[in-house]
Amino acid sequence: MKDCIALTHFKDLGLIKPLLTALAEEGYTTPTPIQALAIPTVLEGRDLLGIAQTGTGKTAAFALPILQRLAADPRPAPRRGCRALVLSPTRELASQIAESFRTYGRHMGFSVAVVFGGVKYGPQVKALAAGVDILVATPGRLIDHINEKVANLNGVEVLVLDEADQMLDLGFLPPIRRIVATLPKKRQNLFFSATMPTEIGKLAAELLVNPAQASVAPAATTVTRITQQILFVETDRKRQLLAELFEDARMARALIFTRTKRGADRVAKYLDGAGVKADSIHGDKSQGQRERALAAFKAGHVRALVATDIAARGIDVDAVSHVVNFDLPNVPESYVHRIGRTARAGADGHAVSLVSDDERGLLKDIQKVTRQTIPAFDRRNDRALGALAAVEKTTMPEKAAQRPAHGRGAQGGGGSRGRRGGGGGGRPAQAQGGHGGQNRAANSGPRAIASTKPAARWSPVD
Ligand code: AMP
Repeated sequence: MKDCIALTHFKDLGLIKPLLTALAEEGYTTPTPIQALAIPTVLEGRDLLGIAQTGTGKTAAFALPILQRLAADPRPAPRRGCRALVLSPTRELASQIAESFRTYGRHMGFSVAVVFGGVKYGPQVKALAAGVDILVATPGRLIDHINEKVANLNGVEVLVLDEADQMLDLGFLPPIRRIVATLPKKRQNLFFSATMPTEIGKLAAELLVNPAQASVAPAATTVTRITQQILFVETDRKRQLLAELFEDARMARALIFTRTKRGADRVAKYLDGAGVKADSIHGDKSQGQRERALAAFKAGHVRALVATDIAARGIDVDAVSHVVNFDLPNVPESYVHRIGRTARAGADGHAVSLVSDDERGLLKDIQKVTRQTIPAFDRRNDRALGALAAVEKTTMPEKAAQRPAHGRGAQGGGGSRGRRGGGGGGRPAQAQGGHGGQNRAANSGPRAIASTKPAARWSPVD
């Protein structure tokens, strides 16, 4: 959009210290595109039409500048009313929005209240009586409060309509128009919708005055052609599981993400030792090294390229068959960006994430943001992996992390099969024996992603 300039750091967006502190405490470093576009515009006092859905960071895109505008013009909240009114289609969303205002505004001392149906009126009436700075409400219950003269909205300075297209689906347009009719004419309006059906376009035209527009691609659409899978595994067995994935020849060109630069080096060395040609790229490598690694990966000489998020930013390689999250990213949006490296140019792609118990919270965030439940399989307590890890630990106690005991020399680069036998060439008993019918990963996943070998305790997790 022409009215706004995309900026890359929160401090560049003109936000005040208490907000920057709260953002830093939340671990947010970079604004999402909708935030970079919307925040400066809303700070200016302009109306905004935001085309964005959940997962794009739109809540902070309106909550941060609203908090700042309220702080710039301190005044008591109007009795029985509020200074900022956010209308939300569902109570779950209303609660989340209120929580976001509390989180981002935690150093500012504003009052936040929610109003939605299905719960007692009493506490809401009480909360409204003295007036609140920020009120987040679903339309139906708010109308009840207006009718009962418990709520009076003639002091509203900013109106946010969130997920407007959902409002339409739920039949909330008439109550919204009734609520808006009680608001003062002079106010700022922020309007968010993932899609723009005609009715919503009409409502936007009624509410907004010369709005700036910010439109971002919904995160979830980038993942539709990518088959995704989660493998739960212990942190210290991830390497072994990763090497096992490469036993499937279809895992022809894999981009593997680690959280740290050292982690990237360690994983690449381990794979190399296991007979899988691998290299790493990250910020500590010279430009020349990075270019060579990338060229070898593109040419197919290197089967696995291990990268950190930052180093991978410029990588645009066609025919990446698999993206593997060796570590989950800290920011859910990075998951979408990472897996978007596969399934380029109309091809299908696969994304496998190795998730240890301490990463469950990150996984939850990712599933929330991408609005999906990723098929998951449990490889914890897997005896084959455990046996291999134990062998490697005893034979190379210091360097187990860097080089497995039975390197590629013994097997002529044919994958990790020979390595896994602990010197005898065979698989550990648990993984060898007849597990017919137990290859549930291949059977019950959306599609088999590489050969995740059958294991005794391999079971889908929902
Ligand atoms: P939303 O689209 O508002 O529902 O936000 C989706 C998720 O992204 C929420 O869990 C937010 O906490 C998170 N989030 C929002 N902005 C950022 C950011 N700039 N950096 C990291 N996470 C963010």
